[in-house]
Amino acid sequence: MNGIFRVPIPKNEPVKSYAPGSPERLALQNKLSELRSIEKDIPMYIGSEEVRTGNTIEIRPPHDRAHKLGVFHKGGAEHVEAAIKAALQARTKWADMPWEERAAIFLRAAELLAGPFRAEINAATMLAQSKNPFQAEIDAACELIDFFRFNVQYMTEIYSEQPPENSPATWNRLEYRPLEGFVFAITPFNFTSIAGNLPGAPALMGNTVVWKAAETQIYSADVIMRVFKAAGLPDGVINLVFVSGPVAGDVVFKHPDFAGIHFTGSTGVFQSLWKEIGTNIARYKSYPRIVGETGGKDFVMVHNSADVREVSTALARGAFEFQGQKCSAASRAYIPESMWPQVRETLKSMLNEMKMGPVEDFTNFINAVIDEKAFDKISSYIVNAKAAGQEIVSGGNFSKEKGFFIEPTVIRASSPDYITMCEEIFGPVLTIYVYPDQNFEETLQLVDRTGIYALTGSIFGYDRYAVKTACDALRNAAGNFYINDKPTGAVVGQQPFGGARGSGTNDKAGAKSNLLRWVSMRTMKENFLPPADYRYPFHAES
Ligand code: NAD
Repeated sequence: MNGIFRVPIPKNEPVKSYAPGSPERLALQNKLSELRSIEKDIPMYIGSEEVRTGNTIEIRPPHDRAHKLGVFHKGGAEHVEAAIKAALQARTKWADMPWEERAAIFLRAAELLAGPFRAEINAATMLAQSKNPFQAEIDAACELIDFFRFNVQYMTEIYSEQPPENSPATWNRLEYRPLEGFVFAITPFNFTSIAGNLPGAPALMGNTVVWKAAETQIYSADVIMRVFKAAGLPDGVINLVFVSGPVAGDVVFKHPDFAGIHFTGSTGVFQSLWKEIGTNIARYKSYPRIVGETGGKDFVMVHNSADVREVSTALARGAFEFQGQKCSAASRAYIPESMWPQVRETLKSMLNEMKMGPVEDFTNFINAVIDEKAFDKISSYIVNAKAAGQEIVSGGNFSKEKGFFIEPTVIRASSPDYITMCEEIFGPVLTIYVYPDQNFEETLQLVDRTGIYALTGSIFGYDRYAVKTACDALRNAAGNFYINDKPTGAVVGQQPFGGARGSGTNDKAGAKSNLLRWVSMRTMKENFLPPADYRYPFHAES
């Protein structure tokens, strides 16, 4: 087709309210009931095949362990090999597909999520990942829709970037080729949108992908895969396998056509993958692209010019929404002594009001943590804090009788380097360090030096000198920095997301910079009048 096409201008998908009486609430409630009334049998998707191995693993809601949502079929090394083969077979045709055709598939996927699949992707995320309706809506529906819409726009911006200079006799062009080989996407449990974007972004840029989902996210990964299919994504472009990480890694990282990894998950896992890639570097045809967004120990720093209610609200939401299982969750806060008594009381009363329970009851703010391993790990930090004589300001109780429930817990640490001020807990635990008001600048140094991460952080205060001092002192402490706002809730197209130091390669999900990692540029110079004499003018004798 001839034409230099423009794509629809991307807009953020409006977040629906799910207020009583709203049509979206009714649709979601119906979908929750429907999904609870059936047992799903979820296959891997390799090439054109739905693969069922018979080695089935049960899927149960984290908040209701007695209920069975279905099973998924677990694979092994041979399925990873088959997925690589399918990706490589699909590669040439997909890489040659005109960009506007690829754009159309992802734009349709966005519309399918916004309409016909909205209730299903949200209900699946609520049931299997224990998110309340709002947390599911901002993640599984809106953020994934935004990723697809904005990535299409960014793709066209990248392709439009061409060398600025051409002489009349030469034409200089840049071609943005897909990587030579396949991309490996490894996705975390906590965001359905990330699960869709990690394979989706490289595929949009013309790559084919092997996607390994986290076991606890497979229930909603299946919906994403069906959306891709319904949108017209050809077989073999994204191949979804359910295998353990090390089994997948062992096949992928030894493969000569391994061209890149798109990872989100914990820092320890990412570092081990990087090492493995390094060990195998001589096997690969190209240097693989390594993109990873990893852990965080995100801070809220408060100056005594801040507003008590605003700070308390930011802590209540920033630390405890989705049970603190966001890489960006506020998990350490530094409060000036003069403000602490009021913040303490306001925060405590907010947390006391928050209801905890299953997602099907929409009045609950807090639901369950993802699985037993997470429950045991998070609760052990609380047990140890009690034993070490740290003050439990709020919460502190937990039970796995019906589901993996942990109360939103606030610890006041006796020292700024107490373990819960430093390590990523990835659960509903916020630790507070109360500092003397006059030590504001020293405390900024503490915030900067504590731990290995640099993902998100906030400064609260209305003294503009203090805010400016914090912005400077914390320049490298967070890839996403907030002034008078909680450190969670980045929106695609508005706050490109990613951190530095131990928090990742900071390629910024949902930004042009991320998509650039999935292409390899070819510079083309064409000469319309090639010289036919090897001599230059200065060679002349006179
Ligand atoms: P995780 O590291 O346990 O798992 C992530 C993925 O890696 C899963 O698919 C898992 O199966 C896989 N994996 C684990 N070991 C592997 C191995 N040896 N080889 C290959 N794959 C392997 O993380 P999680 O519990 O799913 O997610 C929580 C973590 O993700 C937290 O640390 C959080 O901060 C981080 N996270 C970061 C961001 C970000 O944008 N920075 C976003 C979301 C989550």
